[in-house]
Parts: sequence; C-alpha cells; structure tokens
Amino acid sequence: MNRLRSLLHRLDGRGYGGYKELLHQEFHFPGFHLRFLRVQPDPFAPPSVVQIRMDQQVAKYPTALMELPVQRTALRDFLQRRFWQALRPYPELSIDPPGNEILDRTGCLISSDEVVVRLTVQLPASGRRIRGYQAATLLCEQLPAVVMEVLPYDRQPLDRLQKHLEVAIDAETIRSRLAEMGLVAFIANGSILPRESGISENPMPSPPAVPFQSPPELECEFEVPHHGRIRGMGIPEGVTLIVGGGFHGKSTLLRALERGVYLHIPGDGREFVVTNPTAVKIRAEDGRCVHNVDISPFIAHLPMKIDTAHFSTENASGSTSQAANIIEALEAGAEVLLIDEDTSATNFMIRDARMQALIAKDREPITPFIDRVRQLYEEHGVSTILVMGGSGDYFDVADTVIAMVEYRPLNVTEQARAVAQQYPTHRKVEAETPFPFPPPRVPNPSRLQLRRGKREIAIKAKGMETIVAGKAAIDLRFVEQLVEDGQLNALAAALELALRKQWIDGRHTLNEILHLLRDFLEHRGVEGLATAPHNFATFRMQEFAAVLNRWRALQMRSS
Ligand code: ADP
Ligand code: MG
Repeated sequence: MNRLRSLLHRLDGRGYGGYKELLHQEFHFPGFHLRFLRVQPDPFAPPSVVQIRMDQQVAKYPTALMELPVQRTALRDFLQRRFWQALRPYPELSIDPPGNEILDRTGCLISSDEVVVRLTVQLPASGRRIRGYQAATLLCEQLPAVVMEVLPYDRQPLDRLQKHLEVAIDAETIRSRLAEMGLVAFIANGSILPRESGISENPMPSPPAVPFQSPPELECEFEVPHHGRIRGMGIPEGVTLIVGGGFHGKSTLLRALERGVYLHIPGDGREFVVTNPTAVKIRAEDGRCVHNVDISPFIAHLPMKIDTAHFSTENASGSTSQAANIIEALEAGAEVLLIDEDTSATNFMIRDARMQALIAKDREPITPFIDRVRQLYEEHGVSTILVMGGSGDYFDVADTVIAMVEYRPLNVTEQARAVAQQYPTHRKVEAETPFPFPPPRVPNPSRLQLRRGKREIAIKAKGMETIVAGKAAIDLRFVEQLVEDGQLNALAAALELALRKQWIDGRHTLNEILHLLRDFLEHRGVEGLATAPHNFATFRMQEFAAVLNRWRALQMRSS
C-alpha cells in the first residue's frame, strides 16, 4: 500500500498516460491485495478496473455457506450488492448495480480460498494531468476502508445475509420439484406481482397492491428447508389460459412468470414465483430477421411460393416472427411457452368460424396457434401459459382456465368448459398433420464480418438492447427475459468464445453449440468467459440461441 501511495505521489502532475505504470501490478494492503486489471489511457476512456482479493484467512466465510451452487450464487450476489451500496458516496469508485434478480456476476467471486471483487475506478485527473495525491487518498484510504467494512464475514449483517441465502435455496428447492409435482410454475400466496411503475422493478407497495392468493382448487404446498411450508398456486402442465377483464392483472401475472426463471432478492415480492427454468416468452417481433426456420406447422404457401419449411427473411411480419420465435424456442429446449395477447399477432392466435367461412383455408397461409397448442403438449410435452382475454375459442383447447378478477385469480376451468359446450364455436380445426419437431440447423459463420479496427473479432454489448458484432447490430429489444446489462456483456463474450473455439464452424448444429457452451459455463462459470475484465452476469442457453437467431449476417444451413 505504501508502495502504491508513493508511486501515485510520484506520478502527480505527469501526463495521464503515466498511470499505465500501474497495470498488472499487485499491491499488498492490510487484509487484502489490490491489482490493476485495466488502466484507462485517458480520463475520458472507460474507467480502470481493479481487483480486490481477500484470503479466507482474513475474510473467514464458513464453508457451510458455500456448499450448494445456489448458496454460492446468493452469497456472491449479496456481497456485490453491499459493495455497490458502500461505494455510492464515492463517484470515482463503482461496481455494477445488480437488479432484483440473484445472478452469478463477475463483480464478486467467492471460493473456499478467497473472496474477489472487481470494481471500476475513474483515476483522478485535472485536465490531462494525473492528480496523484487525490488518487492516493482514493485508493489507499477510502477504498481500503470500504473493503474492510464490507468484505469480511464478521462485518456482514448476518440476518440479512441469512435471509438472502434462505430465499434463494428455498426458491431453487421449489424449482427442482416443479416437474415431479406436474407443474410448470408456482406462485406463492402473499407474493406481490405488480411493480411500482412501468419503469421500475421495485414492488408496488401493499396496499394498494393486492397480494397474490391462490384459488383453493389450484392451491398446493411445498415443504422447503427454511420457510417451512409454502402454499400457493400451482400451474399444471398442459395448456393454461389466463382470462379476465382489461386492467385486472393478467399481464402482470405473466410478467412475473417470465421473470420466475430467475431467483429474486428478499423484498422483491416475487421471491417464490418460480417457473420452469426453460420457459420462453413468445411474442410477435415484426422486422426481425429469420434464418432457415421451419415455420410450416403454422404457415404454409406464402405468396411468391416462399418456402416456409426453410423460411428466411430480413423482415418478418407479426405472424411469421411469432411462428419463428416458437420454433426457435423449441429448438433451444423450451418446455414452456409464455404468451400474452397484448404482444401477439392476432391472426397468428385465432381464426374464428366466420373468418373461416369468408376466407377459405387454401387462401389463408396461417394455421393459427389455437390449432397447434394441444399438439405441442401432447406430441412434444411443451406446455403453454397464455393470456387471452379476447377470444373464448381457446376454451376448447385449455386444460386450466384462470380468471383474474380485480387481481385475484379464480379457477374457472369448469365454467369455461360449460360455456364451450353451450356455445360451440363451429370452427374447423385446421391442423391436419402432426407437429414436426424443428429439424436441426447449422450456424454458418462464413459471411460474418467481425473485424473492427485492430480487433479481429470485435463483439460488444451496448446497453440492454444491442450487441454489436463487427459493425453490425444484433437487435435484442424484444428478447424480454434478459434482465441486466451484464447478461448482454456475457452473451457478447460467449459469441466470441463460440467463434474462437470453432463451435460455430459451419458443422456443429445450433443445439450442439448450446450443449458445448452450457458445459463450458458449468465448469468455468460466467467468469470463465472474461477475456477482459468486465461486468458479466449469467444467462440461459435460450437467450444465447435468441442472439444467434437475430444475427443478420449469420447463416443457418439445414444439417
Ligand atoms: P391486464 O393485462 O389484465 O389488462 P395488467 O396486468 O396490465 O392488466 O395490470 C393493470 C394494472 O393493474 C397495472 O397498472 C398493474 O400494475 C396493476 N396491478 C396488477 N396486479 C396488481 C395487484 N395485484 N394489485 C394492484 N395492482 C395491480
Ligand atoms: Mg394485458
């Protein structure tokens, strides 16, 4: 520490580039080691990155807190949040702020040997000159005070830490038992689903928020290690409709289920909203590109003799994009589809008897989802949860119907069946053939242009919506289950890894690539992707596939 201090003092007043001397040096502080992983070349470049490493002899985390993967994840997550809080008074120091999901992130790592934290430092300057004395105060006084205050086990607010781990363990326990209970999702009684506003992930205060309460017929119970028995609504496998009047909480419920593939922090309100981990939100996404997707189960004989068994376009319509999203989700291993009428193409979802009478089947290329949704379940075991307030035609194909009435779910399955019998739709079922499982596709990188400046493979995330590969943008705005910047950073790095390792080589199928990447992440963690020190957060294979599918320059061959 003293060496760093005198070095910084010596650099005072020199040109900013002088800071380069710090790069890769490790400095020993009382209780931890500090190392510069990146040093910014000038005051306006992205900030420098330092790594703090504290031995467990100092940090003293009990190994009992690290036995299960979910505990390690929750512990890392907790420490990163505390660090973020503690750094708030120091604008020059920062660590990426976690959202409401508990994720593995590269900001904090923990093992039985050490605790590692990576944070960014805006190295002080006046104009383009080094302010060495200010840097020394920042790095040799303020930062060490924060580290010793936040990192050691004996400084943790133990009740909060315990709660963080217990919530994660119990939610994961529920997830691991969903399938054996025949469920695709679970929503605990008392959950707060609505958010404070359309731009906030904080829970709506209650009241006015109506806490979730399961209807008696769908109520079930999980016995979990820390919260005893948790009761709530189980959504069974099969086809589930969420119906109800406008503004009664349907989309809010579905959104909670979309996020239910992740763990949530205590206080989020959705701690025990748990969804099958492979569930994928499906929506219309007109304008996206599609590469060689077999959308023929939904769409046949398009104008101009376009081949829908090998459908490619640079500009999909509402219905073709939604069809492609479903087929791609199946290819990426989705066992559950989550669909909201608000973001669906109407002609993809329904085609009623009157429209069938007016426009003959051979003039309408679309086989609506209503005629395929049961096949997805019966032939492929893929369940659907569908928000549908606008068409009762779906009563004929639903296993479970839940009505939201003033934010309270009611089980109206029997009534819906009775209505379906009393008012037949007279529509003809349009699916005449089995639902083919998507044939494998092979991503072909030969047309990719990845160079940018000096970098041979330049792939980078930009905020929450875009990954830039070479000079081309991959638009991820409508991949709605991405929740943090860090996930896009990690996805960008995973793309680069998959290219460098030649997993994407024109021979491996998309599915094989997903397996290779999943194995890699299981062994190495999201930190294994870190080529440069960066803020990474874990992501699912479903989202990695979604990125490949939206990459305009990537071709997909049939295998
Ligand atoms: P729908 O999809 O049925 O039209 P939304 O889910 O969009 O309805 O919800 C409508 C409004 O009600 C939103 O502003 C939402 O925040 C609010 N809301 C949803 N669930 C609850 C609840 N449990 N308690 C209070 N307000 C809620
Ligand atoms: Mg809605």
